[in-house]
Amino acid sequence: MPKSLSERDSVVSWHPYTQMQTAPPPIGIVKGEGALLFSDEGKTYIDAVSSWWVNIHGHAHPHIAQRVAQQLQTLEHVIFAGFTHEPAVELAERLLRLLPNNQKRVFYTDNGSTAVEVAMKMALQYWYNQGKERTKIIAFEGSYHGDTFGAMSVSERSIFTQPFRQYLFEVEFIPVPIPGKEAESLSALKALLRQNEFAAFIYEPLVLGTAGMVMYSPEVLDELMALCQEHEVLTIQDEVMTGFGRTGKRFSADHLTRQPDFMCFSKGLTGGTMALGVTTSTHSIYESFLSLDKTKALFHGHSYTANPVACSAALASLDLVEKPQFSKDLERITRAHANFALELKGKAGVKEVRQTGTIVAIEFAVGDTSYFHNLRDQLYHFALDNGVLLRPLGNIVYVLPPYCITQEQLDQVYATIEGMRELIEKNGF
Ligand SMILES: *Cc1c(COP(=O)(O)O)cnc(C)c1O
Repeated sequence: MPKSLSERDSVVSWHPYTQMQTAPPPIGIVKGEGALLFSDEGKTYIDAVSSWWVNIHGHAHPHIAQRVAQQLQTLEHVIFAGFTHEPAVELAERLLRLLPNNQKRVFYTDNGSTAVEVAMKMALQYWYNQGKERTKIIAFEGSYHGDTFGAMSVSERSIFTQPFRQYLFEVEFIPVPIPGKEAESLSALKALLRQNEFAAFIYEPLVLGTAGMVMYSPEVLDELMALCQEHEVLTIQDEVMTGFGRTGKRFSADHLTRQPDFMCFSKGLTGGTMALGVTTSTHSIYESFLSLDKTKALFHGHSYTANPVACSAALASLDLVEKPQFSKDLERITRAHANFALELKGKAGVKEVRQTGTIVAIEFAVGDTSYFHNLRDQLYHFALDNGVLLRPLGNIVYVLPPYCITQEQLDQVYATIEGMRELIEKNGF
């Protein structure tokens, strides 16, 4: 008998966010189509979390596949310092047209963490280039901006970052303005802004993903941004998760009246096909790096910066984002989630149901809520046994599906979550 994928994997692979000693063997996936994943053992899973929030149009989308294949036969890669190419230029042109009109420049990297690193380096150097002492950053409590050191620094200090704590730079954290806590968050920011030492405020707009799909209103974000702008503190809008339809509109920015200084994208940018990150900025940020002095340039880059194949995947994804079907799907999923939320609210075992656009999160009422609580693993495997991929964050289960998911598939996901609730009601945790 030939060895299975998971047997071969267990000898050579090291998986992310996985305790390799105790984790069950990974599931070998051999094919994806629409919202479905097919295993080497003949099982089918509905990908209700878009494979870590990246896959927005469904798996193995033929239009993306075709554009990527074409690009591979034309130009697979070229150095992006001193050279440029059509996919990078076209993507920058098209992306900027969709963003708030103050966004004027596109800087390419490889993932969400590096998109955040670049925004922070640009923000810090913006002040440095002007000879001004603004060196500190403000972030939300509970935030998550990635796993590289800078991104970890502006993220919630947690058990995940504990081994590195002495290398993380100092950041001031303010409470998230969840409903009922708006005033607390605003006054915390106001108090900090009295000190003139802050370079930037970085935030996940409307939804803090990793924190457990913690949600707050666009109105209060506008107020926070206004305060920053009054005090000339730069705003970094991390749309790595919320970008490309998640919140029910193309971008979180489309819910806001204020415009940020920087925006960060990755995840849905290529439709979940290729690794690519983008940081956009305003003209005045860009201008602060212009000088006859070469040391005022941004010294940051990656070997694969603006990879043409990744850019063409993003272009193909944008083709789909700009089709009328895209907004129809967003509306359809938003409505389905709302109905499901209504059904669940007030039922035994349910503490809270939250929704923003195509994201719905159910917080179960349990005693111990830590990430390592074994309820999380039980729920995860319960879902898999029901043919659904859901990755609970502790006692919080969320649905964040590819927009091509059918009503029938959504119903199966909802039924699985209802099954989880019944399990909790019966066993009590
Ligand atoms: C996932 C995520 C990141 C990090 O992106 P990676 O591509 O995983 O490095 C940053 N910010 C937010 C809001 C995210 O959800």
